[in-house]
Amino acid sequence: MGDYLIKATTNKGMVRAYGVISTQTVKEVCERQDTWATASAALGRTVTITAMMGAMLKGEDTITVKVQGDGPIGGIIADGNAKAEVRGYVTNPHVDFDLNAFGKLDVARAVGTNGTISVVKDLGLKDYFTGEVPIISGEIGEDFTYYFAHSEQTPSAVGAGVLVNPNHSVLAAGGFIIQVMPGATEEVIQQLEEQIQAFPAISTLIQDENTPEDLLQLLFPEEEVKILERLPLQFHCGCSKERIEQAMMGLGNEEIRSMMEEDHGAEVSCHFCNEVYHFTEEELQALIK
Ligand code: ZN
Repeated sequence: MGDYLIKATTNKGMVRAYGVISTQTVKEVCERQDTWATASAALGRTVTITAMMGAMLKGEDTITVKVQGDGPIGGIIADGNAKAEVRGYVTNPHVDFDLNAFGKLDVARAVGTNGTISVVKDLGLKDYFTGEVPIISGEIGEDFTYYFAHSEQTPSAVGAGVLVNPNHSVLAAGGFIIQVMPGATEEVIQQLEEQIQAFPAISTLIQDENTPEDLLQLLFPEEEVKILERLPLQFHCGCSKERIEQAMMGLGNEEIRSMMEEDHGAEVSCHFCNEVYHFTEEELQALIK
């Protein structure tokens, strides 16, 4: 089964739900970054949530999510868009710890429990939305639940999980975002709060080859889940030599001259996909304004 995400409504349209299975996508992201198990879980959860937040956008809009904690992993960056294309990287991919007291990958220890989660949405025509909240748990899902409540004023429940094999490869990944629509009755809000308490563990939701539809039905066993849209999810890095050139020009003439004089060229790799771009001395010369 290829990765895909669904947009749906439940509770007679008063609750919006997103469900995703992101196994192949997270696997590709983690392989490109050479992440170790705990780092895979932290990056994979962030990428999975970013994919769903991307699906909330329209047209050519894009979203960038940054989780900057004080843990050994450093920063986590993920980009997504309305076409369900996503990419991501971590500063320090080689982070792995023993399982925590609950027998789970110790994501909070890797991410850290102090820091910020920031979100930038590029909505076209120089229109940006930015939001930032403190990290509250470092487990990512709870942090985004907090983000939606405090930065977007949308009561939400966010869950994301990554199961990792003993050899560090990704076994399964997926997640959900549940949101109360404006105009929902108090009764529905209260009912949803009770349901959230009873939600099965995310690891239960993403194993056993559950589909995104299964996942939402498991979350709302007594409700009709109405699927509005299905989107195939994939890793996509939009980098190109032209874009890398733009970034290098931003470094300034002096920096480019020193690359010419000291190294007689440059090799620049994309953070997101690790593709390496080579620049000859002549090509660097052409970048000097
Ligand atoms: Zn790239």
